[in-house]
Amino acid sequence: MLTSIIGYPRIGALRELKFASEKYFRGEIDACELEKTARDIRLYNLKLQKNSGLDFVPSNDFSFYDGLLDTAFLLGAVPERYTSLGLSPLDTYFAAARGYQGENGDVKALAMKKWFNTNYHYMVPEIADDTVIRLSSTKPFDLYSEAFENGCETKPVITGAYTFLKLARFTGKKSAADFADAVAEAYCQILAKFADFGVKWVQFDEPALVLDMSEEDISLFTAIYRKILANKHSIKVLAQTYFGDVRDCYENLVALDFDGIGLDFIEGKRTIELLENFGFPGDKVLFAGVVNGKNIWRNNFPKTVELVKKLRNIAGNIVLSTSCSLLHVPCTLRNEVKLGEEFRRHFAYAEEKLGELESLKNILEADCPENTTDYLANAALHQVERSGRNDQVRQKVQSLTERDFVRLPEFSEREKIQHERLGLPVLPTTTIGSFPQTSEVRAKRSAFRRGEISRNDYENFLKDQIAQCVKLQEDIGLDVLVHGEFERNDMVEYFGECLDGYIFTEKAWVQSYGTRCVKPPVIWGDISRAKPMTVDWSVYAQSLTTKPMKGMLTGAVTILNWSFPREDISLRDSAFQIALAIREEVLDLEKNGINIIQIDEAALREKLPLRRSDWHEDYLDWAIPAFRLACSGVKPETQIHTHMCYSEFADIIKDIDDMDADVITFEASRSDLTILDVLKAADFRTEVGPGVYDIHSPRIPSKDEIKEAVRKMLGRIPAEKLWVNPDCGLKTRGNAETVPSLENLVNAAKEVRNELAD
Ligand code: GLN
Ligand code: ZN
Repeated sequence: MLTSIIGYPRIGALRELKFASEKYFRGEIDACELEKTARDIRLYNLKLQKNSGLDFVPSNDFSFYDGLLDTAFLLGAVPERYTSLGLSPLDTYFAAARGYQGENGDVKALAMKKWFNTNYHYMVPEIADDTVIRLSSTKPFDLYSEAFENGCETKPVITGAYTFLKLARFTGKKSAADFADAVAEAYCQILAKFADFGVKWVQFDEPALVLDMSEEDISLFTAIYRKILANKHSIKVLAQTYFGDVRDCYENLVALDFDGIGLDFIEGKRTIELLENFGFPGDKVLFAGVVNGKNIWRNNFPKTVELVKKLRNIAGNIVLSTSCSLLHVPCTLRNEVKLGEEFRRHFAYAEEKLGELESLKNILEADCPENTTDYLANAALHQVERSGRNDQVRQKVQSLTERDFVRLPEFSEREKIQHERLGLPVLPTTTIGSFPQTSEVRAKRSAFRRGEISRNDYENFLKDQIAQCVKLQEDIGLDVLVHGEFERNDMVEYFGECLDGYIFTEKAWVQSYGTRCVKPPVIWGDISRAKPMTVDWSVYAQSLTTKPMKGMLTGAVTILNWSFPREDISLRDSAFQIALAIREEVLDLEKNGINIIQIDEAALREKLPLRRSDWHEDYLDWAIPAFRLACSGVKPETQIHTHMCYSEFADIIKDIDDMDADVITFEASRSDLTILDVLKAADFRTEVGPGVYDIHSPRIPSKDEIKEAVRKMLGRIPAEKLWVNPDCGLKTRGNAETVPSLENLVNAAKEVRNELAD
């Protein structure tokens, strides 16, 4: 039995690549030094993988920014606006990744998009009608040689031709099919070159095969690979899929001349069923993704052993692998020194997953796997009752009934009651919650965390910030105020720290894009509210003004989506547990005189399943109720707001309305307001605040352009339902642009109100 991984984190265990890249961007180190850091990381990872006994060690999984961007450069699909800058190859690459502004020109970066259902983002390759696809870089060959010279024969990894074409953006008239031949030809050349190097196996990553595929997609895929695989030379080719099952093309996939097929048995709900129904060709190797590449928990050996035994009856030749690249987990537990052993022993980051593959191999090769020491120890670990169990919460989730998810009276009646009680003008103005987090705010927080200032001093400082913020909003003339969120580092971490059941890691960084990493909190036990989380701040802020103060919470689905979830509790149950905690907070805020409460669901759309047919059953059918659960207990006169960081919800518009919030604010300013037509067509009932300006840019919008945006909105949305606000929180902005922007916003709203009254 052999073992393989699909890819490994490249940012470095202590984010060395991030820091070196940032230094390079700032001009503090030169390209040589950056290259050296990169090489050190690669060779370190190589050694680690070799020492763990891994049989298929990947190469070319390293990237300075993003793997798909590397593939675009490999195939020569690089827009001229970057190549014509006259920069070095590395700087041309970074120009496409991050944009360039300098002596040689001024260009924006390529677009960035979420990578399937992960929190990683890729750069979208751009292909114009005149783009000439041809082998244009030596990176995969160089990295193969580098590893080889260091005593390791690797399996080079490259984004597959089909996935590349499916994810690229075609800027002209031509489409993927028009480039299929040229792309296939380039891959043939890649194989020919690898053959010269004596490469034995090549891995082509084809995650796009787990998406919904049309007949046309299937034809495109088979046509490309018929051509590529007719030119394999002596090389064995692995088609690697991940993030789900390949239900639409399984038969086509196994009928092609691949030597290995990589399938995901963790997220691929139907993978096993496909094998059972259609079999697996005896002449191919099954790379079985049985170790979760996306989560941080130890593999359950008894379950995996049972699965592999089953697979052995179907496929003769099995290589044990991960479900996806380990890019999506942190590097190593070695740096988690503060976490107690009672927690650590349940964890497996990338390095520990290498160990798991080795253990599984040994276990499965034993005459009696169930009697091996590793197996027994692992089985025992999965039997220990974890700390943090809370039967009361479990009971509550168990006994939820229909009624707990329904807010009464119904929306239209509440709307009337709220309008009367709040007495707001038409086109009420508000913000999304956070105000600029100045360096002073961040410095104080760090000082407090390091124990350099007392809690009392820190809290007084925050109160002072809140008071200034309230005064500022009153001066500007906003209608619904916020406290400014100065106490929060991050909209999920802050709540995680106030909830029982969460734990925090020290160094569990995961690449989000380029040099950007996130450190998701971990759901360890059952979740419950340890103490009121925001009440004091909101009540204090409300005490300073007679205008309504909006309470500010993060929703259960967003908290869950940005955490490492448990595997022994369903996402639905976890979401409901968190929702119950938020519900307590909502009711506490209400009890303490807060009449408007916003529950942010910034990330609700993010975990929408990859296949449309799974959207409801697997996700929306619990995600939307989780939101409702959090707010269904309030009185009719309490107004519930929600906020989303995007406006692409045309396809789930009914579900968004079904959240039954009273007001929703969202990003709209960058999307040409097309969402307005969608809202109108859907007869959207919830009141809406489509952002009237883009907070992601330091630009100050003029009063007239805001008026223009509001007027446009009024063409589609009844005045009584329209709010006026920026498109997201202001925490990344400075006061210098925030104040005039909000002044313009308020004045624009006032003037349009007058126009309406005329
Ligand atoms: N209330 C949050 C803020 O204003 C919302 C942030 C977000 O949508 N990402 O910062
Ligand atoms: Zn937002």
